[in-house]
Amino acid sequence: MPDKGQGHELRIAVIGAGLVGLATATALRRDGHAVTVFDPRPPGEGCSLGNAGIIAPYGVAPVQSPGIAFEVPGMLLDPLSPLALRWSYLPALVPWLTRFVLASGTARVEAVSKALAAILGRAQADWTVLAETAAAASLLRPGGVMMLFGTARSRRDSEQSLALKRRRGVAIEEIGAAEARRLEPALAPVFESAALVRDASWCVDPLALSGRLAFHFEALGGQIRRVAVDRARPRAEGGATLWAGGGAEDWDAAVLCVGAWSRKLARMLGVDVPLDTERGYHVMLDCAAPLLSRPVTLHEGGFYMTPMTGGLRCAGTVELGGLDAPPDPARTAVIERQARRLLPDAGARLSDWLGFRPSMPDSLPVIGPAPGRRGVWFNFGHGHLGLTMSAVSGRMIADMVAGRDPGIDPAPYSAGRF
Ligand SMILES: Cc1cc2nc3c(=O)[nH]c(=O)nc-3n(C[C@H](O)[C@H](O)[C@H](O)COP(=O)(O)OP(=O)(O)OC[C@H]3O[C@@H](n4cnc5c(N)ncnc54)[C@H](O)[C@@H]3O)c2cc1C
Repeated sequence: MPDKGQGHELRIAVIGAGLVGLATATALRRDGHAVTVFDPRPPGEGCSLGNAGIIAPYGVAPVQSPGIAFEVPGMLLDPLSPLALRWSYLPALVPWLTRFVLASGTARVEAVSKALAAILGRAQADWTVLAETAAAASLLRPGGVMMLFGTARSRRDSEQSLALKRRRGVAIEEIGAAEARRLEPALAPVFESAALVRDASWCVDPLALSGRLAFHFEALGGQIRRVAVDRARPRAEGGATLWAGGGAEDWDAAVLCVGAWSRKLARMLGVDVPLDTERGYHVMLDCAAPLLSRPVTLHEGGFYMTPMTGGLRCAGTVELGGLDAPPDPARTAVIERQARRLLPDAGARLSDWLGFRPSMPDSLPVIGPAPGRRGVWFNFGHGHLGLTMSAVSGRMIADMVAGRDPGIDPAPYSAGRF
């Protein structure tokens, strides 16, 4: 039986069935609203499908670090670098890149980091509750993550980000390469040093996690419609009219959660947001027995190796290139080569995947009311941390719709901040 909100039940459309949409829809349904989710794809088959699976409360350092503008040109010239650019996309990306660089000043990075920490500090607890109620707890594993530094230089380069994390209270335990190999014996001796972050967990099957959330939401009486919302318009009296599957329908409230595809619909709902995508890849490697007991990341590689039910998932890196370009096989080859160097016993490549992170140029998501539009809500732009943040941001939307205090000041995540 859903918990009642404040006795005012609404017909609410949630657009998008990724982890963010599903967590939002579930929280709203638990408040007793009549909630319908729209997505042309089965639940969780967007970016939520292929991520590295980490619930990462330690992710308090934004992507844009002080000095990043000077590092990017060198990274783009290095074929092993975790950053790549589709040069033909550069003209379209200039406004986003400009905001990205503007957000990389020391004071702004500190403020963004605090705003990230406010959400991330609740991520583990909110996921524990959501996963338990959705019978998904068996998909989550405690145990932290291990960071590897291939060279003394990569350890030095990480200093700024590690110091920022420590300032936000993240416990990082420096260990030597020998201790790292004692803990994870399958690792080859090809790295210089390592660190452990114990306050993290991971999901062994992100698609199954979405499936469990969708099943739970429907069991609570929520509806999922397998159609895209093609057009949206705010209503003068509040809420929105949505066009889907050939028909138009009025809703008391609408929540936009279509990840990297949110900009067009947000514009139709009256707000232009500087959202773009950081494309990311994964390669699944066959491992008869798990080679790792926890996720391991190579700092300079920009990817994680996470033991999952279907094999070892090597996931990460960033390619700036928009939503339309086809996958670049060179990007998965770079991940695979570095993963095999670290784990020489990894088996055959099973599959690969390209996904679209919904990325705001300041690394903060957009969570809260659409400015100037009553009953129109935004919950997108979670970038590198959408799995981690979705349980919190979904709950925050339900709290705000109900007029409750979300427990976190929503101002830093406002769509009106630009
Ligand atoms: C390689 C990689 C590794 C990552 N690793 C991690 C990690 O370890 N931890 C972490 O926290 N995060 C990680 N992330 C980020 C995380 O996966 C994303 O932030 C998250 O999945 C975003 O979820 P979402 O629900 O906003 O978007 P999505 O999962 O993309 O869902 C959006 C949905 O909207 C639907 N949609 C689009 N247009 C419409 C429309 N017009 N009408 C209706 N529906 C529509 C799509 O079909 C899709 O299902 C990673 C990302 C990548 C690429």
